[in-house]
Amino acid sequence: MLRMPRPIEALVHVDALAHNLARARAAAGDARVWAVVKANAYGHGIERAFAGLRAADGFALLDLEEARRLRALDWRGPILLLEGVFEPRDLELCSRLGLWHVVHCSEQIDWLAAHKTQSPHRVFLKMNSGMNRLGFTPAAFRSAWARLTALPQVDEVSLMTHFSDADGPRGVAHQLAAFEAATQDLPGERSLSNSAALLRHSASLEGQASARARGTAVRNDWVRAGILTYGSAPDFPEHDIAHWGLQPTMTLRSRLIATQQLQPGDTVGYGSRYTAERAQRIGIVACGYADGYPRHCGTGTPVLVDGQRTATVGRVSMDMLAVDLSALPQVGIGSDVTLWGQSQAAGGAVLAIDEVAQAAGTIGYELMCAVAARVPMAVAPESAPKAALKAA
Ligand SMILES: *Cc1c(COP(=O)(O)O)cnc(C)c1O
Repeated sequence: MLRMPRPIEALVHVDALAHNLARARAAAGDARVWAVVKANAYGHGIERAFAGLRAADGFALLDLEEARRLRALDWRGPILLLEGVFEPRDLELCSRLGLWHVVHCSEQIDWLAAHKTQSPHRVFLKMNSGMNRLGFTPAAFRSAWARLTALPQVDEVSLMTHFSDADGPRGVAHQLAAFEAATQDLPGERSLSNSAALLRHSASLEGQASARARGTAVRNDWVRAGILTYGSAPDFPEHDIAHWGLQPTMTLRSRLIATQQLQPGDTVGYGSRYTAERAQRIGIVACGYADGYPRHCGTGTPVLVDGQRTATVGRVSMDMLAVDLSALPQVGIGSDVTLWGQSQAAGGAVLAIDEVAQAAGTIGYELMCAVAARVPMAVAPESAPKAALKAA
């Protein structure tokens, strides 16, 4: 086996991915579940994520190269391009690989109308119900639908929208109302929920029998589960992963490579941003912002050393950061450090990526997507089915 250049690595927990997908399925009632694997499966790697998410009903992403990689894994089921095609020639790949694609603007309909294919495409017509990113306005939606359904290049038209506030106080009702008003009498399957809507708004949205019985259900045939499958709570800190029954799917771990004994008044790191008030031992961890650990994390960001919770001190530098060892006299050079995820130490303590993200003023999504290329990433041994280990 190749020696690691530095004692830092990222581990992907395949069994946790499968667990979280099952949580999504339970919340989705009888709706089908897209596993969203855009951005290289939120930084986990398509091939590694696939090993844990293959029980999904389909995979949603936006990079055509990633779609090709999924087909190369022998995935024959649905793949949805969430932004549709970027230029007309992309449609050839859709025909060849049997990709379903979003249609969000009239140019994409023009391109389809000019596309030569033997196999009509399944498309998801997207409404801009208030997010103002992609999609037809409610007023323009019906004519787009009529144009699409008339095309010989189109097989089935499904309807879709995306929520801007499913994780927060504004909620989804205003967008749902706009969507419903413009689509009520249109046929076709619906895809509405992201993770936050799936976890927080199921009563009004999903294919839940209880909601149907109350007459409050808006038809929702396909949910789009992204962040929740990767063990991050979409509405942290209101709720954490323990609340939602989710498990971390990525661990960023390293080791202590030095310790220092501070005297009162000693400072730590660039800019002397931390000053010891008393005698204090600190540890130096082989992990910095060039590994994808956020530099915005100030003193006090949680970290696990030897499975025990402590906190960073001073500024994060490019290749190193410092942690408080006051309460951990037993640790030293070589001790295991968990920056986020599941500790390898006995007991397997968990540090949710959301806590670290919060300390950096961002969200778990950004951290997991930003692990640097120089950090070796592998399927965690304890969770690796034999075949998945080989693929990774
Ligand atoms: C990324 C994305 C999702 C998944 O969102 P999560 O918050 O990660 O669940 C769903 N739908 C669309 C259109 C997306 O781009």
